[in-house]
Amino acid sequence: MRISFDLDETLFVNPEKVPIEPELKFPFNKIYKDKLRKGSVELLQEINKSDCELWIYTTSNRSQGYIRRLFRRYGIRIDSIVNAERHEREVSRGRLNFPSKYPSVYRIDLHVDDEKSVYENGIAYGFRVYHITNDDLEWADNIRREMQRIIKVK
Ligand SMILES: [Mg+2]
Repeated sequence: MRISFDLDETLFVNPEKVPIEPELKFPFNKIYKDKLRKGSVELLQEINKSDCELWIYTTSNRSQGYIRRLFRRYGIRIDSIVNAERHEREVSRGRLNFPSKYPSVYRIDLHVDDEKSVYENGIAYGFRVYHITNDDLEWADNIRREMQRIIKVK
């Protein structure tokens, strides 16, 4: 199966609002300023060791290289990245009123996102979204459970 994660407010969080992973060591904490939601490292490494592909699907303009290198510092391999540029080129192609993300175009089985509109688009367009919030402390276990459920159905 294939799982994707949004970045802003999903994996990258505001440390004043959400518990975070320990910072990278100097100088990498100065190069990669984004703070990872607590529990990300364990879950994403686990996904790497499983048969599941790990994707990032973000509407931000961070480059694929930056994203890949940041996660590599945490011992996490990203299999594929859809950023704003790739989404525009391969998915929306200038169409207006098109969903900001369309994970099923990439045959992604589960997408994790903090935006309620992405969750609602999932219902409207038929893709599965785990809607994560700042106070969701069980998120990693919930996603593990959801992944097991999807694997069983497949
Ligand atoms: Mg977000």
